[in-house]
Amino acid sequence: MESLRFLDNQTADGIRMDFGTPAFVYDEATLLSRAEAALAFPNAFGLTVRFAMKAAPNGALLRVFDREGLHLDASSGHEVERAMRAGIGTEKVSLSTQELPEDFASLAREGVKINLCSLSQLERFAEQLPGAKVGLRFNPGLGSGGSAKTNVGGPSASFGIWKDDLERARDLAAAASLRIERIHTHIGSGSDPEVWQRVASLSLGIVEAFPEVEVLNLGGGFKVARMSDERATDLQLVGEPVKQAFEEFADRTGRRLRLEIEPGTFLTATAGSLLTTIQDATSTGPEGYSFLKLDAGMTEILRPSLYGARHPIISLPRDANGETKSYVVVGHCCESGDLLTTADGQPEELLARELAVCGVGDLCVIEGVGAYCSSMSAKNYNSFPESPEVLLRVDGSTSLIRKRQTLEQILENEILP
Ligand SMILES: *Cc1c(COP(=O)(O)O)cnc(C)c1O
Repeated sequence: MESLRFLDNQTADGIRMDFGTPAFVYDEATLLSRAEAALAFPNAFGLTVRFAMKAAPNGALLRVFDREGLHLDASSGHEVERAMRAGIGTEKVSLSTQELPEDFASLAREGVKINLCSLSQLERFAEQLPGAKVGLRFNPGLGSGGSAKTNVGGPSASFGIWKDDLERARDLAAAASLRIERIHTHIGSGSDPEVWQRVASLSLGIVEAFPEVEVLNLGGGFKVARMSDERATDLQLVGEPVKQAFEEFADRTGRRLRLEIEPGTFLTATAGSLLTTIQDATSTGPEGYSFLKLDAGMTEILRPSLYGARHPIISLPRDANGETKSYVVVGHCCESGDLLTTADGQPEELLARELAVCGVGDLCVIEGVGAYCSSMSAKNYNSFPESPEVLLRVDGSTSLIRKRQTLEQILENEILP
């Protein structure tokens, strides 16, 4: 059984009273300590930490990280716009995107650092901004995601310029007098120091082909321990061989490169919890399961249905007596895949969890939802409104940072001819 990470019964009750459920709660103290840990990543000649904002793009969270000195990684033109509206300076935003926005030239002129992620992006950029400084994202041929759905490097990933197209990229850049000042390789390297060492050395090989490069960005992908039986990445451990590789590169070439990392998960995953209410329960008999039905589900957390991701679930019965029971926890959508207790890595498979005995009306907290949950859900499915987001401050107070959506807002763009 998992225990509560940063909420307690009283705070949870207060948030339900003030904002209702379901509600996302982000813990500022955790955000700050994660930022501090990321900023301590071993480096030889300087470090920029970028928050991969697609993990949790709420402007209030961007501002918390901005105050700590973090920069941002945006994955679409819309995210760049969002960062700017939150008051983040364009010079702190880098854009690595699968879909280059139409207005990329004006974004670049305003100071956004673009990493071109394909040969055709490179051609389009060269056409409009000859002679400009820019970055290139490569796929170094190595991947390490947990599943085909999270793998972002190697031959099965479409992200970045394929390593064997390096010459072609160099020729295209040279023809337009582009100055390649950054190389980027995000492969989701995980928690294994050997993988970081390999990706650093492959990436430094790419940097060697571009004499003007000053910054090497190794992306994010640092795994966190959402469940108590999972192992978290030790940044000191994975960073040390990277630092050494940068030092050796400097000894060999005389080039002292700045390191960039851009974690999403690492910075926010454990800082978010979803507060829900158990709104129904049912049982399918001795051969079946005891189901708890929450007032949330894939409309807030898609990761179990998508990847078979596991999140801690803690029921908070009003009259707890220490007894536990095995439950399958499901969401509120009419969809058999709307499951919160899937087997590890197996989205189709139900796996009951031992929780404190609870019933309808009790609170239930889903943890580890600070990354890729609020930002990546089956929003508005079954016409459920988007949930509010609340920031739990260091001083224990709460701020509403996103209101609950209304039906009017869901229907806003619908037209009945
Ligand atoms: C998503 C993404 C990240 C962050 O990945 P995490 O696994 O959340 O750390 C970093 N860089 C780029 C380019 C990304 O697309």
